[in-house]
Amino acid sequence: MEPATVPGSGTGKLIAGRYEIIRLLGRGATAKVYLAADLHTGGSVAVKSISKHSCASPSSIVREVAIMRRLRHPHIVRLLEVVASRSRIHFVLELAAGGELFHRLESQGRFPEDLARRYFQQLISAVGFCHARGVFHRDLKLENLLLDEKGDLKVTDFGLSAQADQIRNDGLFHTLCGTPAYVAPDILSKKGYDADKVDIWSCGVILFLLIAGYLPFNDPNLMAMYKKIYRGEFRCPSWTSPELRNLIERILDPNPKTRISLAGIINHPWFKKGLDEEKWTAKMRFRDEELVKEEAGRVLNAFDIISFSSGCDLSGLFDVAPDRERFVSGEPAESVVNRVEEVGRIEGLRIRRGKKKALLEWQNGNLVARVEVHRLTDDLSVVEVVKGEGPKERRLWRERIGPALKVPAF
Ligand code: ADP
Repeated sequence: MEPATVPGSGTGKLIAGRYEIIRLLGRGATAKVYLAADLHTGGSVAVKSISKHSCASPSSIVREVAIMRRLRHPHIVRLLEVVASRSRIHFVLELAAGGELFHRLESQGRFPEDLARRYFQQLISAVGFCHARGVFHRDLKLENLLLDEKGDLKVTDFGLSAQADQIRNDGLFHTLCGTPAYVAPDILSKKGYDADKVDIWSCGVILFLLIAGYLPFNDPNLMAMYKKIYRGEFRCPSWTSPELRNLIERILDPNPKTRISLAGIINHPWFKKGLDEEKWTAKMRFRDEELVKEEAGRVLNAFDIISFSSGCDLSGLFDVAPDRERFVSGEPAESVVNRVEEVGRIEGLRIRRGKKKALLEWQNGNLVARVEVHRLTDDLSVVEVVKGEGPKERRLWRERIGPALKVPAF
């Protein structure tokens, strides 16, 4: 379990003037993930940081952001904010303080059925929630299951997920994706597949793994492993109860047409045991209502605009010249400039300003910061800043100007 983060106890490195990096939590294929203190709330967050060079195209990031922002569920890691700096994109995420489920399984060898059931119910709750909204994960695996401080499950990594609108005319997905041991036979057949069936298969692999402590389909030779997957060749360990054995066999059915559906899983006697149906229903609804309330009074967020504006290419937002930074503000241009001016006045700086620009200098004429605001909508702007180079300028930026500009756009 992560200890509470104490602002000032970390590296001193700040992201967006708000998140103080404490230490590295983990490394992924493309990302470094840090534990950080949120100086505004005093809480802890995870910051997933990706180099712009190594990351996928802006459009795929925008897609990931748009998808994650819509998913609010107790068992899905929530995306809180996205900040782009000169060379990196930082995803500020809800912290899963309990670490990886993988590590817990590794230390215990395997889980008793009751504990495996609890994790599996939480996984199915998250997956069902996403599927009902046309979002499929497509890379469900143990490594993507984290735990919060109470030991409850949090599904993460929607980097590969796809929305229903990417389905081709025949109603099937056609991209080959996933991690070999978790890949459904329908993907291997390359004829196209139903993404919900593929996620269900991966949930079956995870369930087997939790109970057995090893993967159902495994072979050092990839082709031999695929063959086993294709034929649905696996054996439940001897300690599996008959009810659970039945459920696993219904999920790991190589024929997607006869494979059990999510509704079937939820109604299965092994799954239902100990399930609080009222709580279950509340989990499936709760965050939606919150989201609707939150979005009702607000214009679209910049990332929503980027992801939905097919006619206008705003992906340049991610290509920032080396000496400047850009971020999105939820305020009209003029009030952003007003805030900058106010800080300048308090700090006794020389100020030159226009309606959408402000230049802050020391009395000797040295640059402190140049801020330029581009309008996106009436209430949404892109703020572009050039910062002075020296330590004094940096401190001023970090402690005064940065925080003054950090507006609740995202
Ligand atoms: P990638 O998508 O590049 O593979 P991941 O999202 O898997 O990166 O993150 C790498 C590691 O960072 C994870 O295995 C986990 O240990 C840690 N991590 C990721 N997200 C969080 C989070 N929200 N809270 C805590 N730790 C996290």
